[in-house]
Amino acid sequence: MTMTEQDLRDIAIVGIGKIARDQHIPAIADGGAFRLAATVSRSGGIAGTENFTTIEALLEARPEIGAVSLCMPPQVRYEAAAAALRAGRHVMLEKPPGATVAEVRALAELARAQGVSLFATWHSRHAAGVAPARAWLAGRSLRKVTIDWQEDVREWHPGQGWIWEPGGLGVFDPGINALSILTAILPVPVHLARAELAFPSNRDTPIAATLTFAAPGGVPVEAVFDWRQQGAPTWDIRVETEDGTLALSEGGGKLAIDGAPQPLDHPGEYPSLYAHFAGLLARNASDVDDTPLVHVADAFLLGRRIAVEPFED
Ligand code: NAP
Repeated sequence: MTMTEQDLRDIAIVGIGKIARDQHIPAIADGGAFRLAATVSRSGGIAGTENFTTIEALLEARPEIGAVSLCMPPQVRYEAAAAALRAGRHVMLEKPPGATVAEVRALAELARAQGVSLFATWHSRHAAGVAPARAWLAGRSLRKVTIDWQEDVREWHPGQGWIWEPGGLGVFDPGINALSILTAILPVPVHLARAELAFPSNRDTPIAATLTFAAPGGVPVEAVFDWRQQGAPTWDIRVETEDGTLALSEGGGKLAIDGAPQPLDHPGEYPSLYAHFAGLLARNASDVDDTPLVHVADAFLLGRRIAVEPFED
């Protein structure tokens, strides 16, 4: 169905940083279900769009904007989300949905009480290969699962001080993307059994982590997250089953079965996210799955900590 200008819903983006500029603004502009009606930005927003410096000012001044998309760091997301929900607005959260599991659950409850939609996004779940991977794995018996998620933090998170502060998740900021895929595609649940987290001696969040999950039948499920990789990133998940091996690469964007690349047709992660949000609004529904954040919280609870050399940006 083609949307006319009148059908578009007004939405505001809060926090105009890397992901807002790289993905959210282009996805909204690309003619989905929304029109960018305003921004909230402490640093000025984007040319040609009305900007507010606080979300409270936006909520007060523009009551016709029914939805907000929050793209700031997780440590400051709860207050903004709660303010928007209390003001009767639908809310879309960048990943991770919050700095704690409990605050995400509180937001889900607030959205329910307010009768508005809350969408805790996991953009990697909308990568082209993820839905076909889930479909292929359904009903198959697992033998072994390995996740290899390594990138250069200086390239992918330049100057992002918040990511090294408590609540910033460190290497789990990208690693949680892998966990969001894992928990979407596996036909069985897993839980963390062991972890080792490497903290630079001058930082509050880890630069690397290894995770071992317990799965039914003792199937080995292992993950390596590392921010010290130079050059091209590795964002791979490999699932060996009794009758074949599935490989997701490029963050879920490519899928191969027994080495054979699978044809994929997909609109892109962020257009797909906004289409899903539009569907939630149409159905007056929410979508809040905190499972990937629970696994990260468990890693901080259970993980053995080792100190590694200081990290300087
Ligand atoms: P970023 O470049 O640091 O941008 C975050 C923006 O949030 C800032 O530019 C700032 O915008 C606003 N902000 C509000 N309060 C802030 C505070 N206390 N400290 C710092 N910034 C504050 O970060 P990002 O990469 O866009 O990441 C934002 C969220 O998107 C994170 O949860 C991240 O996990 C997620 N994400 C990032 C990527 C990626 O590739 N970078 C990919 C997917 C998801 P104003 O100046 O406009 O206020």
